Amino acid sequence: MHPFTYAPVADAAGAAARALAGAQFIAGGTDMLQLLQENLVQPQELADLNGLGLAGITEEQDGALRLGALTRLQKAADDPLLRERCAVAAEALAASASPMVRHMATLGGNLLQRTRCLYFRDVSTPCNKRQPGSGCSALEGENRHNAILGGSEHCIAVQPSDLPVALVALDAEVLIQGAGGAERWVPVEGFHRLPGDTPEIETVMQPGDIILAIRIPAHATRWRSHYVKARDRASFAWALCSAAVALRLDEEGRVAELRVAAGGVATKPWRLMRVEQELLGHRLDRDRVRLAAVWASEGAVTRPGNAYKAPLLQHTVERAILELGGLA
Ligand SMILES: Cc1cc2nc3c(=O)[nH]c(=O)nc-3n(C[C@H](O)[C@H](O)[C@H](O)COP(=O)(O)OP(=O)(O)OC[C@H]3O[C@@H](n4cnc5c(N)ncnc54)[C@H](O)[C@@H]3O)c2cc1C
Ligand code: SF4
Repeated sequence: MHPFTYAPVADAAGAAARALAGAQFIAGGTDMLQLLQENLVQPQELADLNGLGLAGITEEQDGALRLGALTRLQKAADDPLLRERCAVAAEALAASASPMVRHMATLGGNLLQRTRCLYFRDVSTPCNKRQPGSGCSALEGENRHNAILGGSEHCIAVQPSDLPVALVALDAEVLIQGAGGAERWVPVEGFHRLPGDTPEIETVMQPGDIILAIRIPAHATRWRSHYVKARDRASFAWALCSAAVALRLDEEGRVAELRVAAGGVATKPWRLMRVEQELLGHRLDRDRVRLAAVWASEGAVTRPGNAYKAPLLQHTVERAILELGGLA
């Protein structure tokens, strides 16, 4: 491991200055320590954000929920407000990692988790994300866990976090403080970037940026919602495929508002707008949901190793909507 110094930071301005001088942030450390061990990052300094006082979940005056970036995944999964009003987020968190990891990992760190692509994690192989221009080993190699949506000829790595998939369904935003101190809100749906020809650029984060909080708007806290995750083992594993659904029915039982997002199958949390359109204005029934869910894999580009993800995605989306609608 490359030698580095470690220093806690007491305020966001100081943290930003350290980052601009070459430090990298650490929160729960559950991804950062692996990146360091695998020599994927080699910072001169680790700036510890845990002293910033950014933990906790609160309700804002208008009914929105504010989730501090340093809140631990387990704390959030157990939070009564989140469980009651945003079930999809609490369920996604409870299905993330193992209990031990969830007690360390933070919400902000989860949004920035790096891909689990085998080749990204193995410095002896070509990888455009790790070393731009070196090639993509996954295109013709082992790609069982790679993306079928949102990929490019340069990268098909999955963004592996569960929480942002739920947050896209909940229309949530991320509060980022820039290096100069200015704060900005970014929709979670626009937070991660498609790989295109620059797969090394994964999010809209700029040098010195700090995630302060996540906000789930008041209207989304009134929706019913649900998360379904398909994975290799029940104890803990990253998603092979997941579906997050948030829904409001009108007084006659018709779908008035619906957001559907998928994880584990795409290079970023993937909103399934065509599935939403197929169901908006209709009563939910099994046939309609099954036919709508077929659209989930629209535009998928599959390879022999990951072709199974297209039908798995359709089934996962169908199951999530049926379970939420009480039709399963
Ligand atoms: C065995 C195992 C299984 C796992 N399974 C899952 C799973 O099923 N689903 C899932 O979603 N995740 C899973 N994870 C990943 C885990 O959830 C993430 O590693 C974790 O959420 C990252 O949060 P952290 O606080 O530990 O981040 P760190 O490792 O401390 O940091 C991660 C990155 O975020 C940056 N960062 C952290 N906080 C901030 C901030 N506030 N502002 C700016 N930058 C910041 C750091 O600089 C670093 O680049 C698993 C991890 C392990 C080890
Ligand atoms: S899919 Fe992306 S992360 Fe994986 S080897 Fe190719 S370029 Fe690297």
